[in-house]
Amino acid sequence: MTAPAFPTGTILGYPRIGRRRELKKAVEAFWAGAIDAAELERTAAGLRAATRERLAGLGLGRTDSAIPESFSFYDQVLDAAVAVGAVPTRFERLLDADGALDLAGYFTVARGEGDDAPLEMTKWFDSNYHYLVPEIGPDTSFAAHGERLVAQVREARDAGFLTRPVLVGPVTFLLLAKAADDAPEGFRPLDRLADLVPVYATLLAELAAAGAEWVQLDEPALVSESIDEQRDRVLEAVGIAYDALGSAEERPAIFVAAPYGSLDDALPALAAAPIEALSLDLVRGTVPEQLDPATEESLAAKTLVAGVIDGHNIWRGDLERAFELAEAVRSFSGSVAVSTSTSLLHVPHDVDDETLLDPRLVSWLAFADQKVAQVAVLARGVAEGRDAIASELDAASAALADRAGAPGVRVPAVRDRLAALDDADFSRVAYDERVAAQEGLDLPALPTTTIGSFPQTAEIRRARARLLKGELTDAAYRELMREEIARVIRLQEELGLDVLVHGEPERNDMVQYFAELLDGFAVTQHGWVQSYGSRCTRPSILWGDVSRPAPMTVEWSAYAQSLSDKPVKGMLTGPVTILAWSFVREDQPLGDTARQVGLALRDEIADLEAAGIRVIQVDEPALRELLPLKLADQPAYLDWSVGSFRLATAGAAPATQVHTHLCYSEFGVVIDAIRSLDADVTSIEAARSRMEVVDDLATSGFDHGIGPGVYDIHSPRVPSVEEVQSLLERAVAEIPAGRLWVNPDCGLKTRGYDETVASLEHIIEATRAVRAGL
Ligand code: GLN
Ligand code: ZN
Repeated sequence: MTAPAFPTGTILGYPRIGRRRELKKAVEAFWAGAIDAAELERTAAGLRAATRERLAGLGLGRTDSAIPESFSFYDQVLDAAVAVGAVPTRFERLLDADGALDLAGYFTVARGEGDDAPLEMTKWFDSNYHYLVPEIGPDTSFAAHGERLVAQVREARDAGFLTRPVLVGPVTFLLLAKAADDAPEGFRPLDRLADLVPVYATLLAELAAAGAEWVQLDEPALVSESIDEQRDRVLEAVGIAYDALGSAEERPAIFVAAPYGSLDDALPALAAAPIEALSLDLVRGTVPEQLDPATEESLAAKTLVAGVIDGHNIWRGDLERAFELAEAVRSFSGSVAVSTSTSLLHVPHDVDDETLLDPRLVSWLAFADQKVAQVAVLARGVAEGRDAIASELDAASAALADRAGAPGVRVPAVRDRLAALDDADFSRVAYDERVAAQEGLDLPALPTTTIGSFPQTAEIRRARARLLKGELTDAAYRELMREEIARVIRLQEELGLDVLVHGEPERNDMVQYFAELLDGFAVTQHGWVQSYGSRCTRPSILWGDVSRPAPMTVEWSAYAQSLSDKPVKGMLTGPVTILAWSFVREDQPLGDTARQVGLALRDEIADLEAAGIRVIQVDEPALRELLPLKLADQPAYLDWSVGSFRLATAGAAPATQVHTHLCYSEFGVVIDAIRSLDADVTSIEAARSRMEVVDDLATSGFDHGIGPGVYDIHSPRVPSVEEVQSLLERAVAEIPAGRLWVNPDCGLKTRGYDETVASLEHIIEATRAVRAGL
């Protein structure tokens, strides 16, 4: 086909939650029954309309397919599952006579209902976004349901736009799916490619009929080496899928987007396919070198979309360098377009909304809207030459220079301390010696504990809101938090837990709390990004060298400890998690930044010890999250991430029991790293997987304390005594009782008190029963 011209500037996707989280609020109101589906649809349409206008205002073309239709009510992978009709059997009852799903049904698949579990949720590549995992079996039926996407293309057209529909591509869709529960051993979703591709062809035909000239198929799975061990089959699937889609008669021009890294060996496969445009992530990846002649020739006939503006971080960055990269791509094709490296889903809407941030810091930042404007500038440069955009490039370079020299960005005292570290700073005495030194804690077999937070009640949240509004003095707020801590300590003593926590009522968030107290961080007012569904987080901005002006948690922990003879755990967030859940400076290696945070935590631990705290937990739920997608990059990551944790904790006295906590992920691939953390006790999410991780740990020779979660805190369900007991018995069979701990999967902050108390009662009763049988 002769493709319509690709726009010179575009983005791979835009935040959909709304500048003031309008979508979140509307979706949650719909769930609560406060608005009906029609009203939710109106809000969503209004947001989409505002987004198109905004993007056009920022310089993307109105009628050249530059604006992506990347809206989703919940998740783009769920949208793809719905668009190809791949709804798990347990939800088929929700489909209408035509096999379509209404909005309520869509949310039911996302969130579950009664005994029907929702689709599983997991991390989207190396980001903090979570997608819903499609379930594909040998009998999953596929049927095209492109109604929503088609309607959006029409809706845009009626408003005078020609936009570009976006859909997760077929190969990535299957690679991200899991085998349905009833699939036979050895079945892989990718086995169903031949059945799925015709459905995509139908969707493409429908989009073409609705007037779409270009479609964007997202294939990020192709950049990840670890997503499938059989790389050959993945590359073969690319060929099969895109040969078929490209040969279809009725279709828009196909743009395959490959964010989050370089395509490597998938580049020749895509180049060979009859698609019209291809994106290259030049922020994470590099400009390809040494291509074979066939690939070079095929690429020359396509539009190459240079992903040079970082979609994953909030820096204004080096625009000159971005321009050079885009120009470098010209050597492969005469048709070059400029884009973001990934969807802008990972960054907040607009830095101009941050009226309380230091204007100097603001001048170094670019949120989604600023990045769109940067794309527009570079697109103009690519079309008209550097001179046309010289003033914009110079302004960006000046901001970069200003940032490099600004106070706080490089603090000599922090740097000197880092430079003076030696190996001894990263190691404690041998584990056995520590075990002996910790005997004074006088713990029973199978000690019981919790992960840190207790329910964040409405009163706690109200108190924090009133403090922020100035309706509550700092002293009055602190008094309320102390009362809450006293309540939580009393409750734990009544329940009979062995190692207590203070409950974390004073924390708005496990990262932001520390970011607000450490130098080198800034926090935003409106900088929300979608984490999953209607859930948003507001990452802090780590812009400078990190140091700790004053103790951060000692007052609360010491107060809690003063109320009990039992040990109360000090509670800190680890360096890797603080980095993973913040926007982090990109002007130095992540490892340097992590070690700075590690040193600040090390000082905090020393202060906690001095205040009489004998057990200290350093949470690292995000340890797995930042694991690089390329296998070759993983050892270096594990080295600095584990190192920063050890730096934070290795100053602790042998008698201080160091705990860590991990959750949210499959940890199988980082078991060795977990062992290298060298924590005395590791609590880890395990209840949903029925303790699978215990097997992994046992076989890996893990020989420190371990607390596999026995209570799935993601659900309001209260586990029965028998259920907890059977999980514990499984664990006791694998792990010597002397090293086994009993705890929930994670913190209790999202739970209510009734289910929390009932669950903890059951846990303690089950523990007593198992202890009696030892
Ligand atoms: N200590 C934290 C809590 O209990 C841990 C949270 C987490 O792992 N996500 O809330
Ligand atoms: Zn957790």
